[in-house]
Amino acid sequence: MPSPTFHFTVDCREPGYHVYHMTLAISDLPPGRHTLTLPVWTPGAYEVQDFARHVFDMTVHQSNQPLECYHLKKNQWGFDTFEESTITVRYQVFAFELGVDTSHLDQSHAYFNGAQLFLLTDQYKDYSYDVTIMAPPTWHVSTGLDRINGDPWRYQASNYDVLIDSPVEVGTHRQIFFDVDQKPHELAVWGHGNEDVDRLAADIKAIVEAQRDLFGALPYQHYTFILHLSDRGTGGLEHLNSTTCGTARFAYQSRKKYRHVLQLISHEFFHLWNVKRIHPEMLGPFDYNQEVYTRLLWAMEGFTDYFASLTLRYANLFSVKEYLNNLADSIKAYEKLPGRLVQSLAESSFDTWIKLYKPDADSPNRTISYYLKGDLVGTCLDLEIRQRTAGQYGLDEVLRRLYARYGAHGVGFPESVYQETVEEVASSSFQEFFQDYIEGTRPISFEHFLGYVGLTVERQYKNPDPDEDHDSDNRRREEPVAWLGADVEVKDGHRLIIKHSYANGPAADRLNPADEVIAINGFQVTSEDALKNRIAQDFRIGETVDVAFFRLGELKHVPVTLAAAPPDDVSIKPVSNPSPAQIALYEKWLNASWEPVSPAHAD
Ligand SMILES: [Zn+2]
Repeated sequence: MPSPTFHFTVDCREPGYHVYHMTLAISDLPPGRHTLTLPVWTPGAYEVQDFARHVFDMTVHQSNQPLECYHLKKNQWGFDTFEESTITVRYQVFAFELGVDTSHLDQSHAYFNGAQLFLLTDQYKDYSYDVTIMAPPTWHVSTGLDRINGDPWRYQASNYDVLIDSPVEVGTHRQIFFDVDQKPHELAVWGHGNEDVDRLAADIKAIVEAQRDLFGALPYQHYTFILHLSDRGTGGLEHLNSTTCGTARFAYQSRKKYRHVLQLISHEFFHLWNVKRIHPEMLGPFDYNQEVYTRLLWAMEGFTDYFASLTLRYANLFSVKEYLNNLADSIKAYEKLPGRLVQSLAESSFDTWIKLYKPDADSPNRTISYYLKGDLVGTCLDLEIRQRTAGQYGLDEVLRRLYARYGAHGVGFPESVYQETVEEVASSSFQEFFQDYIEGTRPISFEHFLGYVGLTVERQYKNPDPDEDHDSDNRRREEPVAWLGADVEVKDGHRLIIKHSYANGPAADRLNPADEVIAINGFQVTSEDALKNRIAQDFRIGETVDVAFFRLGELKHVPVTLAAAPPDDVSIKPVSNPSPAQIALYEKWLNASWEPVSPAHAD
């Protein structure tokens, strides 16, 4: 009996309507009840998004005869056949959500993620899939999928997982090509801003080479970087041999903004190993119909953040000072969050579907991001392994072994294997480390771990009233300033809305999320800075102020006794008399020679 074949056609020739006209042609389908299913989530974005809500006008034909098509579940349709047959399924998908994990079709381009467009027939996940793209004649295609016979409009995926793990950019985007290890790489840029695509391509090439050096070889035939420049937020999504990154249009000239662009791209590229190939069993092959649970996202995302920065350092795209500045930034952000003492990294991973991807006003008090803390724990774990092995190994050796044993063979590992591999590399127990920092909420002693490499952490306070004529020491001070304990956001240009009240702050049970602050001690405040500066400059810790605000449209006021602000100036600096062992570990870790660098400060 011949086995069925699957051929999709994606027609995006009416982009102004934001609708993909889809056709799925199946030949040699055996008789029986068949189901067509669309994923409810896309790998890498741990959020049930119910893409089927955008699907409409589905019809099923056998030869030219219409078949009855049953809607079985929110994301599943069914039909019956009574003989081996050729089936044509037609449907339309509305796509007007610009994001790395969504699909967008407008007059300028078609961008799609397969999870939103491609129906899975029964359990034919392991069959190969052909895709033909029909687009306006001036458009072209960039994707990680393989071309069929060099045809720029026809592509093939070896199975359904690869099919929906390969986003596609179609349009008039710019294409820059370069090779690393004789393997073709493409940078596809949609949108314009203040970018310098040649410099960007050169920097991306340096990232590819630095990460290749860490693992030894590039495990793909070709790689595609899809880059969207728009006025939307920043984000990225990783795939087997491609990534999509979205950045602000004007993020390419300011050094600080460009650093974030490089970090994003480095992060997504590193994922081709860490999570796409090195992953726990639950993260592939996937169940696309429901949430999948793992307690290891700190290793998949946080450690990816860590190596994204470290390999930018190795590629000389970050100076030592920039690298340590970033680290100081993360320490500051982590230490500010009361949630670090409530939720462990393992819980944060497991609950990502309902917590990290669905934050609420109380999230800073009850949760911790596995990106933020995972990055910091990755730093500490790396330094601990380096210290225990006298510099012979680091965390990268753990990843290489997991890759060699699992990732290179396309299989996931049991979750307990992670700690076991760390212990094997360092030839000693990490039970306490994992208990404290991954399963538990013990505050991280950064001084302890950074001490291995001759660095220490200093926490200070930004001076609310610096004298600009003075030397730079005047910009920070040893003593804390007064603090209201709430973050505000500005709406409509002048309305100060409470975003969070910190559980450890003095307004925790007084100012609610969404309260609109209007005055302090009777005087109007209209900007975030004005509020912060008035509190910090005009009042002392322990003093009580009257806060006037609207709650649900009703004017109210409460007294708040100001507390001491948490440190907002964290710096990493070298110890004064480092030992030869500290210097040796530092130099190997950062691939830089020890020199008395000035303190690196968080932004
Ligand atoms: Zn990631």
